[in-house]
Amino acid sequence: MSKEARSLNFIEHIVEEDLTMGYTQKDLRFRFPPEPNGYLHIGHASSICLNFGLGLRYNAPVNLRFDDTNPAKEEKEYVEAIKKDVKWLGFEWDTECYASDYFQQLYDWATLLIKEGKAYVDSQSSEDIANQKGTPTEPGSESPYRNRSVDENLSLFKGMKEGEFKDGEHVLRAKIDMSSSNMLMRDPVMYRILHKAHHRTNTDWCIYPMYDWTHGESDYIEQVSHSLCTLEFLPHRELYDWFLDQVVSSNKLRPKQREFARRNLSHTVVSKRKLLQLVETGVVESWDDPRMPTISGFRRRGFTPESIKNFVDTIGIAKRENVVDVSLLDFHVREHLNKIAPRVMAVLNPLKLVLTNYDEGKEEWLNAENNPEDSSAGSRKVPFSRELYIEQEDFREEANRKFFRLKLGGEVRLKNGYIIKAESCTKDDEGNITEVQCTYDPKSKSGSGTEESLRKVKGTLHWVSIPHAITAEVRLYDRLFNDPTPDGHKDKDFMDFVNQDSLKKVIGYLEPSLKDSQIGDKVQFQRLGYFNVDQDSTPEKLVFNRTVTLRDTWAKLEQKS
Ligand code: ATP
Ligand code: MG
Repeated sequence: MSKEARSLNFIEHIVEEDLTMGYTQKDLRFRFPPEPNGYLHIGHASSICLNFGLGLRYNAPVNLRFDDTNPAKEEKEYVEAIKKDVKWLGFEWDTECYASDYFQQLYDWATLLIKEGKAYVDSQSSEDIANQKGTPTEPGSESPYRNRSVDENLSLFKGMKEGEFKDGEHVLRAKIDMSSSNMLMRDPVMYRILHKAHHRTNTDWCIYPMYDWTHGESDYIEQVSHSLCTLEFLPHRELYDWFLDQVVSSNKLRPKQREFARRNLSHTVVSKRKLLQLVETGVVESWDDPRMPTISGFRRRGFTPESIKNFVDTIGIAKRENVVDVSLLDFHVREHLNKIAPRVMAVLNPLKLVLTNYDEGKEEWLNAENNPEDSSAGSRKVPFSRELYIEQEDFREEANRKFFRLKLGGEVRLKNGYIIKAESCTKDDEGNITEVQCTYDPKSKSGSGTEESLRKVKGTLHWVSIPHAITAEVRLYDRLFNDPTPDGHKDKDFMDFVNQDSLKKVIGYLEPSLKDSQIGDKVQFQRLGYFNVDQDSTPEKLVFNRTVTLRDTWAKLEQKS
């Protein structure tokens, strides 16, 4: 969408207002701050498009900041995956930053807070600390260690850093107000001891700063003007500001935190923790399994960056949380692939046709348009012969007048080819139809200009020539969850809603033009959907993923039920 095509979202209004209140365009700087504890999902796409979109709109830098303060959950693999996904979406960050690069600065500032009597080492267990927190309506109680002397605090904090204590033995807390109405202000923990190697700082540190202490100070160090986060951080804003108050100097820009609503997608979960559970329990094969709502999963499934960005633009930025129907995302991928994906023919559930009046051994190469939506896409040749496959669903011995496909005594057009008529069929012992004998009308060839070629019949079927067909593994995906809000049930776990039939693998028979397909190629199998060549594909064994069907089959099912 062009910059002027839509009205400003509320975050842009905030920036616009700031620009009239003393900020200049040069003051603007944004960041996208993922924690590298998993792969990015479709919810993150909203945050990426918001932050990088602001960067583009105001010609301002956007940092990619890894919020890497918890070595127990974070890995380099995730850092690399996140960078790849942001790039694939088409965005360029200004600086690649890591919260871990600020560990020393954060430590120095924490020491300063201790000296000013604004932080103390608490030696209670985490349970005791939690028990003293109070409730939203009752104040908390003070820790017996709250009034330790500055010297004792300094020496204990140094000891924490130098590895003199075990995990959990002490924490550093900010000394704010145990009776604040905002429970987050009741002496929040700033540091904990964790003897765990970090993917970047290795064993340099055995104390790690908490999110609230780290985030605002990182924004300040990078001079981020607008620090945008999701709504659950609204109550943290007061603490974000308190921590900034302790360090901001008057000649530097003071970041502001503003909140927007998390985006949820129906029929799936968007939480790295839950997605990790799907990977670890083997419900899916990997983070980039094409059924996953991860950006890498969508990429592998055949989605384009354009379709994801258009989806994100359509849903916009909101102040309240809601669930967006996944069919809207499907709509956007269909819309884009319709423009760019060449049309080809493939049969996934084959039924053999024999054209009894077509010469044995004869073949013709028929002209086929690549994309009716794109005149520059050109055309190709598809082979035609006496023996063809069509889909089993496209033939019935008998059917009513509304069945526009092939039935005994009825006619259909074979796409790009001839009109055929079904004369008889053969069955096996169980009564399954194994072959249909047809005749073809030699004068009805598509595009030949004869009167017969213009003759209208109700149905057009896709097909492939059996002797020319190539085979491929075709992976058909269904929704990963049977419920619209799998994690929205109090009495049930989201794992209870996993759809056991979300992946079906079949052998497809494809027109030979697909022989040299490359990983990532996108095509429309006519009448079946859009497909993408999977990364498992090799020249010896092609593998296709169905990205999306041509129409929304679920909407129909749900209307019926
Ligand atoms: P998760 O629970 O999936 O780990 P998170 O918020 O902890 O999510 P982060 O890596 O901290 O994940 O997120 C990076 C940025 O993306 C944050 O600013 C966060 O607010 C934003 N974000 C995360 N999930 C969503 C979502 N569903 N919709 C919009 N923004 C999101
Ligand atoms: Mg998180």
